[in-house]
Amino acid sequence: MTPKELEIRSQFAILYEKVYSKPLVYLDNGATTQKPNRVLEKMQYVYEHLNSNVHRGVHYLSNQCTDLLEEARRVMARHINAAEEAEVIFTRGTTESINLMAFSFGETFCKAGDKIIVTEMEHHSNIVPWQMLCQRKGMTLRVLPITDEGELDIEKLDTLINEKTKLISVAHVSNVLGTVNPIKDIVAKAHSKNVPVMVDGAQSVPHMKVDVQDLDCDFLVFSGHKMYGPTGSGIFYGKRQYLDQMVPYHGGGEMIDKVSFSGTTYNVIPFKFEAGTPDYVAAIGLAEAAKFMQELGFDYIENQEHDLVQYTLSQLQGHYGVNIIGAPKQRSGSVSFLINKAHPYDVGMILDKMGVAVRTGHHCAQPLMERLGIVGTVRASFGIYNTREDVDIFVKAVRQASAMLG
Ligand code: PMP
Repeated sequence: MTPKELEIRSQFAILYEKVYSKPLVYLDNGATTQKPNRVLEKMQYVYEHLNSNVHRGVHYLSNQCTDLLEEARRVMARHINAAEEAEVIFTRGTTESINLMAFSFGETFCKAGDKIIVTEMEHHSNIVPWQMLCQRKGMTLRVLPITDEGELDIEKLDTLINEKTKLISVAHVSNVLGTVNPIKDIVAKAHSKNVPVMVDGAQSVPHMKVDVQDLDCDFLVFSGHKMYGPTGSGIFYGKRQYLDQMVPYHGGGEMIDKVSFSGTTYNVIPFKFEAGTPDYVAAIGLAEAAKFMQELGFDYIENQEHDLVQYTLSQLQGHYGVNIIGAPKQRSGSVSFLINKAHPYDVGMILDKMGVAVRTGHHCAQPLMERLGIVGTVRASFGIYNTREDVDIFVKAVRQASAMLG
């Protein structure tokens, strides 16, 4: 372990927990990451010293808390290089952000007969809200297929897009295969036909620099808890040109300009989309997590995690009856695999007993499982505190699981 790796790990108390008297090897970062002390301390500090409801008070604590929340918005805007802070809306996570989008975008811009395009590798949260919209409005969902390697077949996009297409909603990185999708190419194709693009960044923002202006995507959604921040935090980013026009998602306090029984007018963005008391402590914690990532540097994060993924592939491929699922040219964060004909759950149970936390199952991507003709996978997913030593223990556990399961 390098001094830098040791220093990073020392910021995550949970990594020193023992499971079944064994050192914890945490490889379930795609589901959620652990939180560095500074995030926990920041949130505790707010609760202990500053807690007060935001935006409404004239008093000292409320102003302090509001300042911290709005500073958090600036940090998150910088994190994804949004053109302005008002385009950054705090939500509870990716799922809530996509539901917000499906409702507000759908109600504003869509009508019967229109089409939304998603892909075959999407997480259920980037499928079901669109199906609900389609049902509500009499629209249809079109699906961009994947290749046998587990990449998007983006040539097919040209035939899928037509004058009825209202939006393309696509994962930046697959939570199952780790495939990094060519967002810039997709955006270029979509924009040439005046179709906006929403990027599900749940599995990319934790692992790489995601620059919304460089990608030129129109919307980006992601979760705080997968990028070292607290649960219940997330971001919905959209270009002002759309957000200004979109109807609100939730009604209530804070999102209004003036309320009267003869009619209500709405607040400006971002507040129009932040009804009620936001989880301001989580939002402040999320900004602390973003600063943690920025200080580590995206070069370090990307190099370290690329090394772990490649090292894992080299240790597993062709050994112990392991079949790696998908062979994308660009892979980030996750490695999915099966061992011979063993059920992924049985493999996961054996790894667990050896202190190795991985995820098994369909990973909320049942249509992808159907396409691949499997019930599920075992997924090892990496975070910035993982090391080659973790991979060595994991690979040893895979070897034993393979021997036990024949
Ligand atoms: N999209 C992708 C690609 C994901 O990996 C996940 C979480 N597994 C989600 C959406 C949903 O995120 P959340 O549960 O944090 O809302």
